[in-house]
Order: sequence, then C-alpha cells, then structure tokens
Amino acid sequence: MVIIYHKEQKMRLTDDRYAGERSQFELALRMIRHEARTRTIRECTGLSDDRIRKLYSTYFRNSGRAEIKRRRGKSPRQVQRFVKNPQNKLQATTLVALFCAGLLVRIDKNNRVHPRWPRPDVEFGHRLCRAYETYLLLHDNAKLNFEWAWNLLHCIGYNDELYLAVCAQCNARYVQDAYALDNRTCPTCEISTTSGTLSARVSDAQ
Ligand SMILES: [Zn+2]
Repeated sequence: MVIIYHKEQKMRLTDDRYAGERSQFELALRMIRHEARTRTIRECTGLSDDRIRKLYSTYFRNSGRAEIKRRRGKSPRQVQRFVKNPQNKLQATTLVALFCAGLLVRIDKNNRVHPRWPRPDVEFGHRLCRAYETYLLLHDNAKLNFEWAWNLLHCIGYNDELYLAVCAQCNARYVQDAYALDNRTCPTCEISTTSGTLSARVSDAQ
C-alpha cells in the first residue's frame, strides 16, 4: 500500500510539473507571437533566455512565419506615446480599463491605480496577453504594441507621470499626462468635437 501511495504521489508531482511547464511554454509562445521582448517573456514565464531563444527558433524562425520579430533590449519607457494625441490617449485608456477588468490593477474611489500582482508570473502574463488581445480586437489601427502595453501597466500603477483624469462632460476616466495641462476633456469627447468641426468644414465647403 505504501508503495502504491508513493507511486501515486510521484505521478501527481510529475503531472503538476508537466502542467506547470506546459503553461510556461504556452505563455512564452503567446508572448513571442505578440513580439514581446525576451526580457519581458523571461520575467513572466521564469524560463531562461536560452529556452526562450530555442522556442523562438523551433516554432517561428523555421516555420516560415518571418513576420514574427524578436525584440531585444529594454522596454520603451517614455510616457509621451500614451498621451501625444486623443487617439493614443483613447487606446491607452482602453488598455487600462482592460487591465482593470483582468484584475491586473485596481482603481480606487479617488481614481488612483493600484497594481494587484506583487510580481509577474505565468498567470499575470496570460492575463496581460488576454487584455492586449482584446485591445487589438477593439482598435483597428492599434498604436501600442505589446511592449508599450507592458510599459503602460507599470507606469499607470506608479501614479506619478500618468494618472486617471475625469472628463467634465461625460464623467469618464482617461489617461492623462501629469506634467501637461488637463482641459478635463476625455479623448472620446475630444475626438467627437474635432470630427464635428471637420464635418462642419466639409458642409461649409459644399
Ligand atoms: Zn468625455
């Protein structure tokens, strides 16, 4: 009986380890498809750079899928990208809403953003991928790649260079640059005002 018990326990341990490794690999492949940097993949999966390189060359380099690039080095850090125009601001705001829905961050009653994950792991990585994939479905002309989304997730949680402002017209929250003047207009209201002006111009010209 004792032997059988040990055998079952050993099998369960092996199964658990196998399931864990499979989840790591699945996440790595999912992140490589989004052209995440090796460093970002390593932080989430816990896999070594060497394993990530091997996965990339096994599944992508020799698969004829030349469109997948491998990005090296550090993630981009400038926050300007998220706020440089209403379109980018709207897309950054969509991502923050999706981070919140995916329980990656929590937004309190004062609109301050709190990270909910102490450090990246496999579950965190899958949730980030899900948020990013939903963002791609919502915006045809996506301005932010996966690394920018990763960067935004970290930046918004610091509540210093970026914060969530409130629109005076529709009460929506939106991503705002802490060092720029805030006209209390969310990107959606700003875009609809601009497009209104444009259509007025078109009708004037006719
Ligand atoms: Zn608004």
